Amino acid sequence: MDLTLAILPALVPSWTSVAILGTFFTYLAVVGSILPGKVVPGAVLQDGTRLHYRCNGLLSLLLLVGLLGLGSWMNFIKPTIIADRGLELLSATFIFSVLVTLLLYAAGLKSANQSSSLKPHVSGNFVHDWWFGIQLNPKFMGIDLKFFFVRAGMMGWLLINLSVLGRSILEANLNQSTILYQLFCALYIMDYFIYEEYMTSTWDIIAERLGFMLVFGDLVWIPFTFSIQGWWLLKNKVELTTAAIIANCLVFLLGYVVFRGANKQKHVFKKNPKAHIWGQPPKVIGGKLLASGYWGIARHCNYLGDLLLALSFSLPCGISSPVPYFYPIYLLILLIWRERRDEARCAEKYREIWAEYRKFVPWRILPYVY
Ligand code: NDP
Repeated sequence: MDLTLAILPALVPSWTSVAILGTFFTYLAVVGSILPGKVVPGAVLQDGTRLHYRCNGLLSLLLLVGLLGLGSWMNFIKPTIIADRGLELLSATFIFSVLVTLLLYAAGLKSANQSSSLKPHVSGNFVHDWWFGIQLNPKFMGIDLKFFFVRAGMMGWLLINLSVLGRSILEANLNQSTILYQLFCALYIMDYFIYEEYMTSTWDIIAERLGFMLVFGDLVWIPFTFSIQGWWLLKNKVELTTAAIIANCLVFLLGYVVFRGANKQKHVFKKNPKAHIWGQPPKVIGGKLLASGYWGIARHCNYLGDLLLALSFSLPCGISSPVPYFYPIYLLILLIWRERRDEARCAEKYREIWAEYRKFVPWRILPYVY
């Protein structure tokens, strides 16, 4: 009861947190539209059209981190501003997600546009339509909102981590666990933006409509729950042995190699189905499905890599508490569910070719186990 009473006031968003959020979104909208970046064509949609995405996320992120660094060096911004206002930023972002998806729902209902991107998909059940969204690729002032929100979520995660790191340094609390966690996450997020164009062929971008599920996932879930380990390490001290540190680095490296390698192989294959995989011409099923490299080991080896990475973000916290393992446990459940949904989608799309691929590659995520 006391804890609830202590937390509740901290959850009420102040005007400062609204301003932080508004400034962040405005910054992203402006730099996303003006900074240079490779323009990548998205997947071909059902009506034969395709969207184009300007992949300037890395530049936008580096510029933002540079500006924030400069601002805090000049004592203009407090480096712990996000860490100090974590709960109210969480609720402000949650409220924003609810409001923006209600607007998306209303705009989707009104839309008469019949293109694949904007065609309204309405079941008539308000909760279903608001949750899953009505349109595939809604835009606001020329900005593709789906691409915008996922970018905001990934950058938000790094900004929260950096602010928590700032607090850890100010409290003279910096230790090996915090350094490992911060380093792994920063590398993962930077890598995401280096390969931002690969996002354009992922399930979220090509198949999911923009509703509360996706907006909440991008804006609230990614930044605020993936950073739990950082917050936890502020209050808990962990002593890691050298062997544990080495093992942790190996899990991260293995996860990274599999995750990035698998996603890259599929991306390259989609662009050039003849490109060599691991120095050999690729095995292709029905002219469309890659069955070489990671895609010949398990049908979703990329999920395995991501799970190892998620585990490596939690291992620096030791094993005294399940709390820092929230992210890998959640990801395991999500990816098992997603694999099932993707399987159903691919079985319907590729039919007998998919059945042949399943025979050729029987494992879903973990070879010889699942
Ligand atoms: P994938 O990138 O695995 O994309 C699945 C699609 O790829 C299928 O629908 C199909 O689409 C195509 N495909 C599947 N098998 C083959 C094949 N053998 N050959 C050619 N094409 C194939 O799925 P996701 O978008 O779910 O995941 C992308 C990455 O994002 C993963 O690494 C995942 O771990 C990560 N992720 C991370 C999350 C997180 O919270 N950390 C959440 C969700 C994803 P098509 O119709 O185009 O052929």
